[in-house]
Amino acid sequence: MSDRVHIYEVSPRDGLQNEPEVVSTDDKLALIGGLVAAGFTDIEVTSFVRPSWIPQLSDAAELIARLPRHDHVRYWALVPNMRGLERALDGELGHVATFMSASETHNRKNVNRTRLESLAGLREVIATAKEEDLVVRSYVSTAFGCPYEGRVPIDDVVTVTRALYEAGADHIALGDTTGMGDPVLVQQVVKAVAAAGVPLDHIALHMHDTQGTALANVLSGYLAGVRTFDGSIAGVGGCPYAPGASGNAATEDLVHMFQAMGVETGVDLDGAAATGAVLADVLGRDLPGRFHKYWLGARIRNAATRTA
Ligand code: MG
Repeated sequence: MSDRVHIYEVSPRDGLQNEPEVVSTDDKLALIGGLVAAGFTDIEVTSFVRPSWIPQLSDAAELIARLPRHDHVRYWALVPNMRGLERALDGELGHVATFMSASETHNRKNVNRTRLESLAGLREVIATAKEEDLVVRSYVSTAFGCPYEGRVPIDDVVTVTRALYEAGADHIALGDTTGMGDPVLVQQVVKAVAAAGVPLDHIALHMHDTQGTALANVLSGYLAGVRTFDGSIAGVGGCPYAPGASGNAATEDLVHMFQAMGVETGVDLDGAAATGAVLADVLGRDLPGRFHKYWLGARIRNAATRTA
């Protein structure tokens, strides 16, 4: 398997939906433009949930209509159900993402359905999406721990992952929803999923740094053979003061680590960091990414040196 890794950027959707501020469509387009310029080719831009649920993403239709289209860039939207899929089709978006949880309680609390009900609904969504020639990514939340149930049996993660893969999902993103995973568990889950017949090049890891283990878990996944990792620029969506904050792994931290290891990401680290800096200005507060903070500090020191 190639040493090259692929970073899937979630900041416009998973980042901004977990921020208290509502960012304007113009500022989102500037963020997405910065990401494209920095070399990101997979960007999750919004979600077609009911606008009243997530006001931060209520401009989904307008945003999609105004996206700068490039042949090499894949824009993704989260679709909770058939209605969401129809809205993605209306916007001529070629890439959609579904979601459900590996644990029963989290799934019930999140979407008010049992896992079996979710799977039945998603089979229909995925089948329709494939008929329309869309590419489908399916998130499996709580794959490395559940805030309600604690440890989630690996068999449950495997069962849900395999069911989604067999339903036609092109990619499965295993999500560490509240950052409960550890590097040993990551290896166990990845190996179990692969042993159950889901090829590793169809697996992505969506790690959260809620408890400080995101990079360690990403590295562990890489060593187990995974090559696609989700990141959110500057760690946006990781507000430590907001209840329910996800603590998204910071993209620049992933890119920097892989670059230092000699692993190609296709992303320009400086361009990514500059995009994160602009977003911090838009939000008007500090963002949690470690490389983001380092880069800002270096920029201030360089400016001081020049003016000294
Ligand atoms: Mg997340």
